[in-house]
Order: sequence, then C-alpha cells, then structure tokens
Amino acid sequence: MVIIMQSGASTQEIGAIVKQIELAGMRAHLSQGEERTIIGMVGNDRPIDRSTFELMSGVDRVVPILRPYKLASRDFKKDDTVIQISTGQRTIRIGGAANGLAMMAGPCAVETREQIIESAHLVKAAGANILRGGAFKPRTSPYSFQGHGENALKWLAEAREQTGLAIVTEVMSPDQVPLVSQYADILQVGARNMQNFALLNAVGMSTRPVLLKRGMMSTMEELLMAAEYILSNGNYNVMLCERGIRTFETYTRNTLDINAVPVLKALSHLPVIVDPSHATGKWEYVTAVSKAAVAAGADGLIIEVHPNPAQAMSDGAQSLTPESYTKLVAKVRRVAEAVDRTV
Ligand code: PEP
Ligand code: MN
Repeated sequence: MVIIMQSGASTQEIGAIVKQIELAGMRAHLSQGEERTIIGMVGNDRPIDRSTFELMSGVDRVVPILRPYKLASRDFKKDDTVIQISTGQRTIRIGGAANGLAMMAGPCAVETREQIIESAHLVKAAGANILRGGAFKPRTSPYSFQGHGENALKWLAEAREQTGLAIVTEVMSPDQVPLVSQYADILQVGARNMQNFALLNAVGMSTRPVLLKRGMMSTMEELLMAAEYILSNGNYNVMLCERGIRTFETYTRNTLDINAVPVLKALSHLPVIVDPSHATGKWEYVTAVSKAAVAAGADGLIIEVHPNPAQAMSDGAQSLTPESYTKLVAKVRRVAEAVDRTV
C-alpha cells in the first residue's frame, strides 16, 4: 500500500503514519516529492485495514499496489528516479527525460594500468561520461582470466582522477561490496548474479548506486523483484539493465529484448540502461542496436570499447575500437535528438 500525504503535511503527521506502519509489523519507505510525501508500506502480505490510515491526519489517500514489486513500481513513485553521481570533477544525472543519456564505455576487463587509463581518455574523447571495466570477472570457465581485483580498482580510480569519468565495475559477492564501494561510483550486479539475494541485500545496504543487469533467463518481473531487494534495504539508486536474454537464436550471443525498454519504463520509475555489447556479442551490430535502444527510450548505454580488441583478454569480438565508438556516439546523438534526449 502507498499512503499519499496531503501537500503540506507536517513532520509530526508523517511520523505518526510511520509509527502506525511499524506497529502493524511493516516497514515504511518515504519518498519526498516536490509537492508531497508518499509513504510506501512494505512487508508481509497480511491484510491491512486501509481505513486506519485513511482516517489519520495529513493523509490524502491510500492506494493499494497490486504488483509484487512495490518500491520499484510506478504506482509507488510516478516521477522518474534521477540518480546523481559526483566524481569531484563533474556531476552526472542518470534517468529523467530532461537529463542526457548515461554513456558508459570501456573494456570488458581491466587488463593493465596502461590499458584502462588509455581506454578512459579515448572513451571520454568520444563522448562517454562513465568508464566501465571489470576488476572481478564472472567467467564461464575457472581457467579464464578472473580479473586483477583490487589492483584493477586502484587503476580505475586513477583513470577517474585523470578524466573525471565516473566508474562502474562489477561486484560478485557480498564480501566484496565494501572494497568495491571504496573505489567505484556505481556497483554492477552482473546477469549471473541477478538473483544472488545475499548480494542484492549487501548492495542494498551500500550507499553506492547500483547497475542491476537482467539475468539471461529472467523475466522482467524477476528483474523488478531483484531491484525490490535492493530498494527495500534502503538503496533507492538502482538502474535496470537489459543485456540480452537467451533464445533459440545462436547467431548472436543473446537476443536483445527491446520490449524491455518501454515495458520497464512503464512499470517502474527506475532508469533503464541497455547493453548492446553482451546482447549481440558481435561488435558489427552494436551501433544498430544502440540506436534502437535509444529510440525505444533507454536512459543510457553500456558499451564495450577496447584500445585493441584483437588483443582483449575477454569479449574482444564484441568490443568496439575507439574509432568505431566515436562514430557510434555521433549516430546515437542524432537518434537521441529525434526522441528529445541528448548525449
Ligand atoms: C560484463 O559487463 O562484462 C558482464 C559480464 O556482463 P553480464 O553480466 O551482462 O554478462
Ligand atoms: Mn564483457
């Protein structure tokens, strides 16, 4: 249930509602809008008497949320969530039609200090505002390169210092959250970990924004329920990422579910990011799919770019050269303008 307060409701009135919710064995989540406060009531599914709240002072109305995800739902919060990230040198706003697209780019994995610093300068020059690069890599084979761990995080931080780009990097387990949070601006939860509930709880308790990737065999509702874990722990800065799902088609690595963009934006207020690199698995198709994603209403793109894709330690086949990424940005900018967004 969501309790919509009258505009101008006092702190005392809001406090009384919160207390009443807690008495009912539920948790209260406050969303402070420009005009009024909305209080989300989440917890068990026990029936609650709506009139208890309807009669309380300062309450405008009480709206039941029928969907299983509550805090992630548009019914709870009508306005788009805008996530603000400050790198010290610049402020980036992700989500909300008035804000530019989040352009995340960089190699699949951080391979060397030189490679990530060179990548940072190159993607920044091309128009990116966020640098990606894995320090901890979830690899199908235990014999594949697993990432440079904390050294890679230090190199990413150095790249941020030199360029002002924000950093997004993957965190694979709850015990890594404090370490990765020390260096990263955005914590990525990878597709393989979308339903790692211990990890979702851990990033939910962190103060860092989270990029939550859709599992390759997960429904949109499961993605939203995974986001709900993070939100219900008090971290409201969550981005949903469509990165392709498994289908019978094998020519491309995955199949981008373009439907997910308008559907997730309709069901939820959270920003939606598209990853055309893992969706296609082939760099040749990344530009076309990026344009489609932006045309469909995505709030940003996360794209793999490597200074020398042929030498990449992971995902070389889907990595763009800096030159092709520069061209991609120019094309995406024109599509963005057509749908009233900017790059
Ligand atoms: C990645 O971003 O490099 C990655 C491993 O992505 P996903 O979790 O979507 O496969
Ligand atoms: Mn990758």
